[in-house]
Amino acid sequence: MEEETEKGNGLWNAVVRQVKQLLPTDIERRRMDRYFPLMHSPRLEGSEFLIDVEGQVQMETFTGLYAPVILDALRMCGANVEKVRFCVEERRGDQPQMQMPRYRPQAKTVRSVTSTSPMNENYTFENFVKGPSNSFAHAAATAVAKGPGRTSYNPLFIYGGTGLGKTHLMEAIGHYVLERSPGMSVCYITSETFLNEYVNALQNDAMPAFRERYRKVDLLLLDDVQFIADKKQIQEEFFNTFNSLLGLHKQVVMTSDVAPNDLKGCEERLTGRFQQGMVVEIESPSYETRLAILKSKVAAVHHLISDEILKFIAENIKSHVRAIEGALNRVVTFMDLNSDIPLTVEIAKHLLKDSIAEEKIIKDLTVDEIMRTVAAHYGVKLDDIVAKERTQTLVTPRQVAMFLSCKLTTKSLPEVGVSFKRTHATVYHGAQTIQKRLDVEADLKKAVEEIVSRLGRKFSDLV
Ligand code: ADP
Ligand code: MG
Repeated sequence: MEEETEKGNGLWNAVVRQVKQLLPTDIERRRMDRYFPLMHSPRLEGSEFLIDVEGQVQMETFTGLYAPVILDALRMCGANVEKVRFCVEERRGDQPQMQMPRYRPQAKTVRSVTSTSPMNENYTFENFVKGPSNSFAHAAATAVAKGPGRTSYNPLFIYGGTGLGKTHLMEAIGHYVLERSPGMSVCYITSETFLNEYVNALQNDAMPAFRERYRKVDLLLLDDVQFIADKKQIQEEFFNTFNSLLGLHKQVVMTSDVAPNDLKGCEERLTGRFQQGMVVEIESPSYETRLAILKSKVAAVHHLISDEILKFIAENIKSHVRAIEGALNRVVTFMDLNSDIPLTVEIAKHLLKDSIAEEKIIKDLTVDEIMRTVAAHYGVKLDDIVAKERTQTLVTPRQVAMFLSCKLTTKSLPEVGVSFKRTHATVYHGAQTIQKRLDVEADLKKAVEEIVSRLGRKFSDLV
């Protein structure tokens, strides 16, 4: 893009950044990284924005893929543009042409929202895959979407680790309400933006307008509250906004990476208030859910990827959904660029080797995690798992925890023994007992399968 004036370049750079934000998935953003460098001499001519490309195929493809989103981005950057047009540049015309992409993006922003942060149009209930890790959160979100402000789930507080679908679920509520109740005013905002706006309003003596604006929304979606939880001044403002919204039976939904009680620096009266409605957690997806999510994402990008490859990804990328999307994206990009090479598990393994190595570090299970999960499954106390008591109701959970600790962690028998306050021989005996019982007791097998799945692993990992 040597030819542009400096001003043109500045605008283009801003547009590229904006487009990137508007594209909803990693897959689309990655594709953009490949296709945008093929565009040349972006320039404003009258009310048209022209971009040169290298041939008819590029022109048609880019017009379909990017003209609308570039137009949106230009307008968001303040440019007065009617149309975006791709032109075939003569002297580049004889250069080799790019491949035709096999899918189209669904990127669009939602305009009818009183939001300061744009919502992702793909974050709908339809695109959200339900599974045991999120079914509770999903049910609460659906109830809120159907009757905002009219359920006892107010506020709805959704928490869980990064990349597990909190923002997706929250925006799904927003989309649902906008669609079914067009008169309602919906405000989706990240806590960071909320904080910035608050600071701006303070500096510009515009607090009344700031307050007014938030207090008149019917549904407030505040994403990632952990970012404002430790800011004293904004806490006060938020507390007031929050109270007046609840007082008017307006719906508030919040997300956070930790439970209300674990919000660092957050005053108790605020965390107490957060818990008055409904608090739900999203956990890491099980193998089955990961596979279902992969299948739904593949269908959305219109690629054909064998079940074998999808299973390979689901088995190896376990930490969170964003990582799963990233892995899928790498595979899709490879397929885009190498349509003549059939994708094998070997290739996928190679493409994903860094992520898999990372996963191993992130998701090395601890004995403690296993004990907690087992205790929760059997409805016994964590302390009972290590207690001396030898009733059968405790012995089975205890031995299952021993068995899984041997199978799913890198700890040695003596080390596992220390965690259970027992000798390595006892741990060995316990694990052996479960191993034998698994072959003959269907109920036990089912229980172990469920626990393993809650731990984000598969039964076949237990070799
Ligand atoms: P969080 O806000 O918890 O960090 P996001 O909502 O941004 O996570 O989700 C990360 C990505 O994973 C998004 O692209 C989202 O669409 C996808 N995702 C998460 N959970 C699901 C799910 N259950 N079904 C489909 N996609 C999901
Ligand atoms: Mg989020």
